[in-house]
Amino acid sequence: MPLVNLKEVLDWAEERNVAVPAFNIDNIDIAQSLMMAAEEERKPIIFAVGQGAIRTGRLELLAGVVKTLAAGSSLPVVLHLDHGASFEQTLACIRAGFTSVMFDGSPLPLAENIAQSVLVVRAAHAVGVSVETELGAIPGVEDGIAHSGPAKVSLSDVETFIHAVDTDALAVSIGNAHGMYKTAPKLDIELLQKIRNLNAEVPHLVLHGGSGLGDGVIRTAVSNGIRKINVATEIRLAYLEGLHSAAGSQDIYTHIAAARNSIIEVARAKILLFTTKADERGNL
Ligand SMILES: [Zn+2]
Repeated sequence: MPLVNLKEVLDWAEERNVAVPAFNIDNIDIAQSLMMAAEEERKPIIFAVGQGAIRTGRLELLAGVVKTLAAGSSLPVVLHLDHGASFEQTLACIRAGFTSVMFDGSPLPLAENIAQSVLVVRAAHAVGVSVETELGAIPGVEDGIAHSGPAKVSLSDVETFIHAVDTDALAVSIGNAHGMYKTAPKLDIELLQKIRNLNAEVPHLVLHGGSGLGDGVIRTAVSNGIRKINVATEIRLAYLEGLHSAAGSQDIYTHIAAARNSIIEVARAKILLFTTKADERGNL
């Protein structure tokens, strides 16, 4: 079916009190393997194109790949820009057929983040494209972009931001980080609950840095309102480990199959974990 926008799949997740994974794709094989994992689990999927893929000239290419994969599937598929760097970049993605764009104004002062996010929302919503924004820079390194910044977002900033910006989804920093965690992260669930309970129309909440978070942490975050979880590092590692496992072979399709199987295994586990309802899991 044609691509759907982010709001549609996050509304689906909200109704079920589950989350949808957003997997970063860096090449065709990763995208195709992830689609196979989603098909096996029969769940919606968000393909995220990040700054590394864009820097290496893959914006249009990966957009074409995802549109082709979606056309061959009956599942809801979203094509999403991850950590959009500028208003202009979000427009380039909208033109390339993305159904969701993230604008990451988190390094900016709050007023400037609001001003630029409003502009992105206005353009995107005019053509049915969803918008994710970010508050409180998420620490760690992703695609070569490092943030130190405060590890947690301020509740009053969230309140100010969501009153001013009609964003469909909001990435919040609640103790999460990009990359793999060196020490077990502690998510501030109380802060998440306070955000959910703000006296405002709270957008769908997004957790970046899903790689390496324990299953229990994920379940608690989802049951407290996280609707989208980004996984980049673990998919990349699964791909590389799959390739390395076939290092002795001279047959390229042995390498491709090993990488594919490795990705499918990791992605299926994430899909299952994120999209299984709390009451179907028994005790948490
Ligand atoms: Zn991120």
